Amino acid sequence: MWPVCLSGRMETLTVADGFDVHEYRTGLKILKQDRESVYLANRAGYACPACGREFGRLFVSTDEEVSFGSAPTGPICVVRAPERLLVLTHEPDQ
Ligand SMILES: [Zn+2]
Repeated sequence: MWPVCLSGRMETLTVADGFDVHEYRTGLKILKQDRESVYLANRAGYACPACGREFGRLFVSTDEEVSFGSAPTGPICVVRAPERLLVLTHEPDQ
């Protein structure tokens, strides 16, 4: 079972002091991982640090340059954390 937020307030990922995937391991499922980056699925309904909405996928990289072979269908947010780049995808607006 994944944790459910009973208060109705989504937990927002915090990045000001760096971002540690392990802090969120109960709610973020690793989909793919290599030496410098990791793709995660948001299973706990965490809120995006940039826009406050729930995100779908999270990409975290310590690399200085990142290229994506294909674009997601919905909005994306980019968050700069110490020594890390975060890219968050959202469902397209209804
Ligand atoms: Zn966002």
